[in-house]
Amino acid sequence: MKKKTNILYYLKRIIKYAKGSKKYLIAILLLNIIYSIFSVIGPILSARQTLSLTNELWQQLAIITAVLLIVEILRNLVMYLSDILFEKSFFNLRKHLQLACASEALKIDTNTLNHNSSGLFIERINNDTGSLSDILTDSLSFITAIITKIGILISIFFLNKIIFLVYFLFVIIMFFFRYYAEKRIQEKRKVYMTKKESSLGMVGELVRGSRDIKILNAEDSFLKKTDATLVDTNIANYDLDKCRIRINFINNFFRDSLNALIIFIGIYYLVNQRLEVATALIIVSYRSQIMNISNNIAFFLEDIKNFELAAERILEIIDNDKFSKEHFGTKHLDKVEGFIEFKNVSFSYEENVPVLKDISFKIRPNETVSFVGKSGSGKSTIFNLITNLYNPDKGEILFDGIPLTSLDKNSIRGNLSLISQNPYIFNMSIRENLTIIKNDLTEEEMIEACKMACLHDFIMSLKDGYDTIVGEGGVVLSGGQKQRLAIARALVLKTEIILFDEATSALDNETQYEIQQSIANMQGEYTILIIAHRLSTVINSDRILLIDDGKIVGEGTHHELLDNNPIYQKLYKLELSDK
Ligand code: ADP
Repeated sequence: MKKKTNILYYLKRIIKYAKGSKKYLIAILLLNIIYSIFSVIGPILSARQTLSLTNELWQQLAIITAVLLIVEILRNLVMYLSDILFEKSFFNLRKHLQLACASEALKIDTNTLNHNSSGLFIERINNDTGSLSDILTDSLSFITAIITKIGILISIFFLNKIIFLVYFLFVIIMFFFRYYAEKRIQEKRKVYMTKKESSLGMVGELVRGSRDIKILNAEDSFLKKTDATLVDTNIANYDLDKCRIRINFINNFFRDSLNALIIFIGIYYLVNQRLEVATALIIVSYRSQIMNISNNIAFFLEDIKNFELAAERILEIIDNDKFSKEHFGTKHLDKVEGFIEFKNVSFSYEENVPVLKDISFKIRPNETVSFVGKSGSGKSTIFNLITNLYNPDKGEILFDGIPLTSLDKNSIRGNLSLISQNPYIFNMSIRENLTIIKNDLTEEEMIEACKMACLHDFIMSLKDGYDTIVGEGGVVLSGGQKQRLAIARALVLKTEIILFDEATSALDNETQYEIQQSIANMQGEYTILIIAHRLSTVINSDRILLIDDGKIVGEGTHHELLDNNPIYQKLYKLELSDK
């Protein structure tokens, strides 16, 4: 079925996010209608005022002047109120849209995230939500501007039919001209937005990776690559502006021709005494408003098209369509015991490149199991499947005997924590890094977790202690400290299952010992799965699973494998020779 994508469809979808703003939007519309009425009355009063002056009717002049003054004051007051309400509704709508977008972006599946640049999502969450709110609130004033112009046209109809006809034809011609012009502009705008997204992604890489870029001495090649994407964006922008300039040129030609025509007709009628001076004055006062109609039409049509474009881009994130979302089941488990089973699981990231091949194993609650094997054998992939970042192509994964596919998000993610090789540490204080994942964390719980993670003493040695800001990506911390902070995070959450991807970076013996110590502190109380890159880590594990080329090729304790398994023996020898 073809998806409906017209303005009404988008409006219906987006207006839902105007929660709490609807009353403001209605008030803005009403205020703008009042404004329109004042705008139509103003020129009529001005003309009467001039006539009273030229005819020396002083009393009438005084009354008209007073009324005109009141009308002008009220007109500005109405606009002031409308502007204030406009700002309120704008911020309200943008906030709701941004939150909805951010929350949906967090649900996008890992594969889709891997294949898209972060610039794409940042641009949509930050800018498109803003322009959408802007357009929605702004278009109310365009609607009222158009209502004003219709009011003016009706007044002119009663004043002079010929001049009305000229204005009317002008409005019709401008409408069709602008309609087709806007179509052209939107095509160019779409190209520009796509280019802008990719250049934003590139600039993001440049800023985030600046430390490595400097060390790699790769500033020049990065700037060259950034320059190329910026040039692309600028060409698209220039193309868009060129199209706008051409359209403005034709528009101004029409407008000035109309101007000349109206003056000619006006003078002709005045000379032939077929038009009163007062009527001529009113028509002249209305002239600029009517001329402006082509801009109103243009802005309104442009707004409709921009609204459709921004809404499409935002709804692509919100809907489970272009950027597919993670799948979860509906069954809820408050607390898992920690029983994990893989039943004939096969998986591949790319078609026809199998990574896991028919793997089966069982892990009992509170057991500590290590996965060992060559780099690229599929160990991290097992973790990616347990955390439900990816789903198996074949086979089943079970938590406490229940298929992972039927469990809801909290039953899976709320019952496990992952300590990755290079954990993402948020640019906040150490305290906030822990409280952001558990709002009601007490001081005692925080200190206890950091003590178990062998981090407390280090934190206390810092000038600001737990309030030390760790910098972007936790730059203030060493690799080992980051991992221990991630261990503290897992301990704070007290999840039954802890997945630990041991850091490959050469940690000094003391740090390694401290990390092993913190794992030992957790052993027996939690179900712990470790990807071990060093065999020294696995000696204390209850069981070891040896992975080779996506298959389990050995299982047992360190000593059992060392006695019986040639692949393990080879790995052990290799590690010894490394030392
Ligand atoms: P290990 O943890 O044992 O070093 P991984 O599970 O990380 O191995 O990787 C197994 C294989 O899958 C490797 O060949 C790796 O290149 C590939 N791989 C890992 N992640 C992805 C991904 N996101 N997309 C495509 N291939 C991947």
